[in-house]
Formats: sequence, structure tokens, C-alpha cells
Amino acid sequence: MRVGFVGWRGMVGSTLRARMTEQKDWVGLEASFFSTSSPGGPPPQTPGAARQPPPLLPADNLSALSRCEAIVTCQGSAWTRAAHPQLRAAGWKGAWIDAASALRMEPDSTIVLDPINRPLIDAALAAGKRDFVGGNCTVSLLLMGLGGLFRADLVRFLSTMTYQAASGAGAQKMVELVHQMHDLGKIGAKVAASSSALDVAEAVAARMHHSDHPTGSIGYPLAGNLLPWIDAPLEDGRSREEWKGQAESTRILGRTTPVPIDGLAVRVGSLRCHAQAVTIGLTRPADLDEIAQVIQSTSPWTHLVPNTPEATQRQLTPAAVTGTMTVAVGRLRRLHTAPDHIGLLTLGDQLLWGAAEPVRRMLRIWREHTGQ
Ligand code: NAP
Repeated sequence: MRVGFVGWRGMVGSTLRARMTEQKDWVGLEASFFSTSSPGGPPPQTPGAARQPPPLLPADNLSALSRCEAIVTCQGSAWTRAAHPQLRAAGWKGAWIDAASALRMEPDSTIVLDPINRPLIDAALAAGKRDFVGGNCTVSLLLMGLGGLFRADLVRFLSTMTYQAASGAGAQKMVELVHQMHDLGKIGAKVAASSSALDVAEAVAARMHHSDHPTGSIGYPLAGNLLPWIDAPLEDGRSREEWKGQAESTRILGRTTPVPIDGLAVRVGSLRCHAQAVTIGLTRPADLDEIAQVIQSTSPWTHLVPNTPEATQRQLTPAAVTGTMTVAVGRLRRLHTAPDHIGLLTLGDQLLWGAAEPVRRMLRIWREHTGQ
């Protein structure tokens, strides 16, 4: 199969290529790589591919794109908005498999998260649909952690307070966070051993606001800080990231009546892995053992962490799950706010199940569907 890859060197694209190599997905592919910044440059490795990929092609070369039977893009919404309508208008009939949000809510698109919504994907394929889009990272991780509760119709409402890593905003911002950490870390070397902790805090705060502190990409200090706004503002006071929680979950689950979902989306100074503290109002009384079993049944990658200090601090952290396929769920307990309220925390690597993995698996599903 001839497959074009766009956005292959960003955070999501790099993760996708690594997973494709691990899973031997290049075998049988004729891959072409496109670039918005360095056409003509050397293509990346594709071990086992049907042929050596040509040098990088310009990402605005529509005739080269239209020769692909599938296009996999992790480039971002601006490129999708520019290229997709032109290709479709020119009659291109290939599969469009996308990590960006631009097409997610379009009538012809299917949001893909196959461990949760494979029947919906199969129905879309049977109906001849060809636009497949990965979900928002936080939404996909929420459903990979808690999809069983929705399947069992146990969720009356859900409030999610997110702790989202810098890499969720792309390669440049994640690298800048490390530069910020380094800049603040230099203070550690400067402060005398006799300095009080308050002196250190004051020096760090002053450095965060210094004009030389690197904030060119993120716009604000994030190391040692948090930023409780992600994506564009909407008129009702929500951010677009917060709006996606209910809108995309409803679509992924194929529901006609939405389960109310809302909360605050917060960027924190971790590098990779999004976490969310969740409050759920149940539809019926259920004991914690039953809830735990239903959560565990969500997917083979869902891992329930016992609600103990040791297990939580060892297994329910970005440091523990980063780079793994595990979506961890823990701190499961009843809340005192109402008898039918439960609380929990779930987290996973947003570059894997939150972005690259549903896209990678969709390419596989498309190849199976077309017999290639
Ligand atoms: P990204 O890291 O910013 O990469 C996007 C493009 O930026 C690259 O393809 C590359 O294009 C260019 N680029 C510029 N400077 C770069 C650098 N220093 N390193 C690497 N690439 C650089 O974006 P992303 O996080 O992968 O996100 C891609 C799309 O997926 C977005 O629409 C995003 O919303 C969505 N998404 C992201 C995540 C996530 O966790 N990051 C999760 C779900 C969905 P050229 O090679 O053409 O120059």
C-alpha cells in the first residue's frame, strides 16, 4: 500500500514511527514522507518497508499526496484544513487518518479509538467512509481508563480535572519546559548551602519572571508553575479543551444522548503523560468491588492500582507509566459529597493511547479492510 506520512517528526509523528517499527507495521508499505519545512531532505528509517522511501516531498504537493492510497497526518489542524478539502474536491478516494482535531466533528469523520469503539469504525468502513481521526488525548485516555463504566451505563455525570503534560502541546513547548527547568535549576548551584528554603523560593520566583527566562514558545513560565487554560476560549467561559470532553466522548461512544461531562483543563510542568482527577455520579448504587471490576474490564491496557499510599506513589504517576501502553486508574473511593459519588485518578501516556496508537491501529484496520 502507498502511504503518505505528514507530521512524522513532531511529538505524535515520532511516537507513531517508533510504534510502527516496534509492531513491524512498515512491512509491505511503500511509505512517502512529506515536510512543510525541509523538502528534499533525507526520509526517516522504515525497517521492512516494500521500498526505500524517496527524499522528503513538499507537504503542499497535492499530486504526490493524491498518489497515496492512505495519508497519515500528525502535522496539525492548519495543514489538515489546507490539504484535505483540496484532495477530496479533486476526487481523491484514499483513507485520511489524522491526529489533529480539525475534522473530528465533521459528519463524514469517525473518531477512532478501536478498543472502545471498534463497532463504530466497522460500521463507518462498511458505509464507505474514509476520514478517520484520533480523539483528543485527554478524552481518549479517559475512555481507555473508564470506558467500561460507560459501557455498563453506570455514569450519570462526570467531572474531570486534568493535569496535562507539556508534550501535549507539541515538541517545541516540551523542549522549552526542559530549558525552563534548567534555567531554574541553575539557581540550585548558586544558592549557598546556608540559604534558607524561603531564600531559594524567592530566587526561583524572581527567575521565573525574569525577561531572560525562556518562555518564547509556551508564553509563560511552566516549570515550577501550572497554567489553567488550554486551547481557545469559548463564549461560555470554557476552554475548547474543556468542551471536547463531552463532545468527543459522546461521538466516540456513539451515543445519541450525551452523558454530562465537564471540568477544568490544566497544563502542568510534567513532560509526558496526562492525568485526570475524576468525580463520577453513578446511575445506580454499586459497590466499589463491582466498580473496580467494571473499570478493569475496559481494555487489556487498563490497570487498576490499589488505593494504598505505596501502590499509588509507585504505579499511579507519570514517571511510572511514561512510554508504556498502560492506562492506570487508582485512588478509587467513595466521596462524601453524596452516596452515589465516586472519585478516582486516571493517567496514561498521551502520546501513545492519547494520539499515536489509535492512528497506528487505524492504518492497520484500513489495510485489513482493503486486503493490503
Ligand atoms: P509538534 O510536535 O509541534 O509537531 C508538528 C510539526 O511541527 C512537525 O511535524 C514539524 O513539521 C513541525 N516542527 C517544528 N519544530 C519542530 C521541532 N522542534 N521538532 C519536531 N517538529 C517540529 O506537534 P504534535 O504534538 O506532534 O501534534 C501534532 C498534531 O496532533 C496536532 O494537531 C495536535 O493537536 C495533535 N495531537 C497531539 C497530541 C500530543 O500529545 N502532542 C495528542 C493528540 C493530538 P515539519 O517537519 O513539516 O517541519
